[in-house]
Amino acid sequence: MEKVKVIVIGAGFSGLAAASVLAQAGFDVTVIEKNSSPGGRARKFAENGFTFDMGPSWYWMPDVFEKFFALFNKTSEDYYKLKRLDPSYRFYFGKNEVVDIPATFSEISEIFEKEEAGAGAALNKFLAEAEYKYKIAMSKFVYKPGLSMFEFAKPEMLASMFKLDMFSSFDAHLKQHFKSPRLRQMLEFPILFLGGTAKNTPALYSLMNYGDIKLGTWYPVGGMYSVVEGMVELATSLGVKFIYNTPVDSLEVTDGKITEVIAGGQHFEAPYILASADYHYVEQHLLPDKYKSYSEKYWNSRVLSPSSLIFFLGIDKKLDGIEHHTLFFDQDLSKHSEAIYEKPGWPENPSLYFSCTSKTDDTVAPDGMENLFVLIPVAPGLEDTEETREKYFQIILERFKHLTDQDISGNIVFKRSYAHSDFESDYNAFKGNAYGLANTLLQTAFLKPKMRSKKVSNLFYAGQLTAPGPGVPPALISGEMAAKLIMKEAGVKV
Ligand SMILES: Cc1cc2nc3c(=O)[nH]c(=O)nc-3n(C[C@H](O)[C@H](O)[C@H](O)COP(=O)(O)OP(=O)(O)OC[C@H]3O[C@@H](n4cnc5c(N)ncnc54)[C@H](O)[C@@H]3O)c2cc1C
Repeated sequence: MEKVKVIVIGAGFSGLAAASVLAQAGFDVTVIEKNSSPGGRARKFAENGFTFDMGPSWYWMPDVFEKFFALFNKTSEDYYKLKRLDPSYRFYFGKNEVVDIPATFSEISEIFEKEEAGAGAALNKFLAEAEYKYKIAMSKFVYKPGLSMFEFAKPEMLASMFKLDMFSSFDAHLKQHFKSPRLRQMLEFPILFLGGTAKNTPALYSLMNYGDIKLGTWYPVGGMYSVVEGMVELATSLGVKFIYNTPVDSLEVTDGKITEVIAGGQHFEAPYILASADYHYVEQHLLPDKYKSYSEKYWNSRVLSPSSLIFFLGIDKKLDGIEHHTLFFDQDLSKHSEAIYEKPGWPENPSLYFSCTSKTDDTVAPDGMENLFVLIPVAPGLEDTEETREKYFQIILERFKHLTDQDISGNIVFKRSYAHSDFESDYNAFKGNAYGLANTLLQTAFLKPKMRSKKVSNLFYAGQLTAPGPGVPPALISGEMAAKLIMKEAGVKV
């Protein structure tokens, strides 16, 4: 019997996940990708002996990856090797004010206690609540497509909703447990970097702290791209076909159904289309006006997660003072958050994030050298000029020199910057966003743009602008959920 075709637009994590789930269910799957390689925002590049992951660097929630591979009777070990980082990461709160977060919980508890009497016990309580939220969210909420609020209207779910702290802010929740602003910052950073502020994010998202502190920070040897390679290997083994360098230019719709996908001058046909490219772009640029589910006004009213200014640097010596993950939180974090969300503009004194995977992995930089990835989260939609990038580059060099006593300005043998205009041209990212929509209360679960088009019967969406949200683990879940919607529609057992 001939297999039913599905076209997946985009080979990021959500598209790759969806493609494998559909291929295993018996569909004939073709992934059409605009760029020359898979991975989307998680692509990599190599220059002068340095290898850089271009996007994600934190491998959190390993259980979600295992759950995904288990769908195919596989484990992550079939594709890549994981290493638990210890310390998980390092904070700089000022010169000579360094805090390392160890992998062992009892040691973290001691650090908290030293900072504030009673904070060790408070952390225990905070994380017990976070664990409850994580487990309930994973078992009852996150693996739901969010098509309707009725998915969540079951008595046991409603009962847990209040315990999940959906309706109080992360900020208030932190203040209930900790007085020290520094401890609060240490727990706040996962949500800041993945699209929210403590004030606009529901306390539900303390589940991220459980994921971070209890489940650990891991590194896939070779870099995050080895996960992409694993996912492509899996998809290919299931028969998925990949077409690269081929941007989808338009979707032809007749009587509420996509009849043709036009990409790179070629015409493709399939009964089902799964768009994992940025939702806003697909809606606003590929579909005829009358088939758009959301208006440009709707998109402009969404709270986007940050864009990022990134520098990829090759350093011709070994660096002291930094770990695999290092956060410079020596400036006022709330002012930086304000410049992202409340008064969008380039931040005056930004917090900085450094990823230096050559600290753990000797394959990603030449001997005796380091690959340094520096990221500043910034508001989406800002004017992004060479002068602005250079201004921030100088700030980075100054801060690095001040905090670590190392002047690296003469040791940079490779430099590339990346910001809004690159996100737009590489991924068709709305306002140059890096991580999709922020996790605000009004943009959670069934309040996200829907996984199923309201106006085109055979069009489905996956990825970081729909449920469940930004991040690699959510992208895997999103792809799986969208694939299952197509299976259901096609009458294939889910
Ligand atoms: C700088 C940065 C740091 C991050 N850090 C982390 C982290 O540490 N940990 C974490 O878990 N997450 C992190 N994230 C978030 C995470 O990487 C993303 O949420 C996730 O990879 C998104 O996957 P996706 O499939 O939704 O989208 P994408 O990866 O963007 O994939 C969409 C694909 O669609 C393609 N496409 C677009 N338009 C078209 C078209 N017209 N035709 C064909 N193809 C098209 C794009 O080229 C792309 O390949 C980070 C993201 C960035 C950018």
